[in-house]
Amino acid sequence: MSTGPGELRIGQGVDVHRFSDDDGRPLVLGGVVITGEGAQGLEGHSDADAVAHAVSDAVLGAAGLGDLGRHAPDTDPQWKGADSMALLARVVGLAREGGWSPVNADCTVVAERPRLSPFVDRMAERLAAVLGAPVNVKATRAEGLGALGRAEGIACTAVVLLSPADRGDDRSGDSGGDAR
Ligand SMILES: [Zn+2]
Repeated sequence: MSTGPGELRIGQGVDVHRFSDDDGRPLVLGGVVITGEGAQGLEGHSDADAVAHAVSDAVLGAAGLGDLGRHAPDTDPQWKGADSMALLARVVGLAREGGWSPVNADCTVVAERPRLSPFVDRMAERLAAVLGAPVNVKATRAEGLGALGRAEGIACTAVVLLSPADRGDDRSGDSGGDAR
């Protein structure tokens, strides 16, 4: 995709994972281990971080790079038990190679349990560190409706905005432009 000045691209991502029967599996969302009442792990090939997956898909969508299944297929042993925040970092790298860098992201986690509000700020911080852009994380409940309402799993939606990357002037830049 070619980029022009002032051009922006938006992408969205949706991810759903069911709760695992494995009591030893941690619940990881947005790179944060969630604890407390009802904090059961999610089923998945990787660490099943639905928030990291939704944000990754939003980044890929905005950059016109397809979806996460294409870049990290769940048939690939490389991603078994994988840290999905590392996957997100890789996806952000792909977007940057394509000439795009994140402007901001917003996510909504839908979970009947556990209570996520004590964790949303930390999730946002972790995600922002990987994206190099501000991230907002919201948590809501499904009000008892459907599979999510019966607490069978957790879903997350995300939107990410990208703008043309500043070439040769990394936004996360710590060196004032003399990096080379
Ligand atoms: Zn997922």
